[in-house]
Amino acid sequence: MTDLTGKTALVTGSTSGIGLAIAEALGAAGARIALHGLAGDMEIHDATERVRAAGSPEVAFFGGDMRNPERIHELMAAVDAWGGVDILVNNAGIQHTAPTTEMPDDKWEAIIAINLSACFHTMKAALPGMAARGYGRVVNIASTHGLVASKEKAPYVAAKHGLVGMTKVVALEHAALGDAASGGVTANCICPGWTETALIEPQIEARAKARGGDRTAAIADLLSEKQPSQRMTSPADLGALAVWLCSPAAHNITGVAIPVDGGWTAQ
Ligand code: NAD
Repeated sequence: MTDLTGKTALVTGSTSGIGLAIAEALGAAGARIALHGLAGDMEIHDATERVRAAGSPEVAFFGGDMRNPERIHELMAAVDAWGGVDILVNNAGIQHTAPTTEMPDDKWEAIIAINLSACFHTMKAALPGMAARGYGRVVNIASTHGLVASKEKAPYVAAKHGLVGMTKVVALEHAALGDAASGGVTANCICPGWTETALIEPQIEARAKARGGDRTAAIADLLSEKQPSQRMTSPADLGALAVWLCSPAAHNITGVAIPVDGGWTAQ
């Protein structure tokens, strides 16, 4: 069992989906959790209760629109004042699918801002504290689309490839800090394939519509196209991996992008 007692984790976009599952898993391992997202009061309340119920000793919500660097600076200052960031999970993300020639300019701007630039701003703010403490974990939620491409996802693929590259840079810059006893400072990506969350709902719905509303057939179709295991990943699977990356045993794992994709990128 990984014990994260005494550590503080900021998980961006943790009011739903993968981020919430990671917050629950880190909380269950004993970490204080800074929740974050663009959400209404009910969603924030429910997420907070879930992370508390998972076992986190302290949970607080912090707002901040990741499209706006000023809001990100305020977010990072607020979490720093709450106890500093030992673990940073850059998870907030959005998707929009369309052929490149039809991709709206504002979708390009928003996806690059949230899925890539925001991660630069949060890492820039959090890394000096990690370096000073000799322990730090950056877990960036990229995607299989950080490693390979699909049609109709130009901004998403660009942002996620960029995130994988930027994570390697950060890993190299911090590799020699701390030691095995302190845990060191590492930066890695998790690269999920199809994972059951709201983010992929529009893609499921589009395929279901083409199949007379058959949702099960739509999911099977998505999986058969890319994911050889034919199984969805659950957000909790990714939570377990994030906790392990935060463990002392992972002190020498840095700069890698770990696919959790049922063989998608092995093809
Ligand atoms: P989700 O829609 O359930 O969660 C997205 C989170 O990001 C929410 O908490 C939302 O509030 C937050 N967010 C969105 N826009 C924001 C903004 N402007 N400012 C602040 N927060 C904002 O989706 P998810 O599937 O859990 O996605 C989480 C991450 O996982 C994303 O980075 C996504 O690209 C990645 N991912 C998902 C899948 C999948 O199949 N679901 C696969 C690979 C990678």
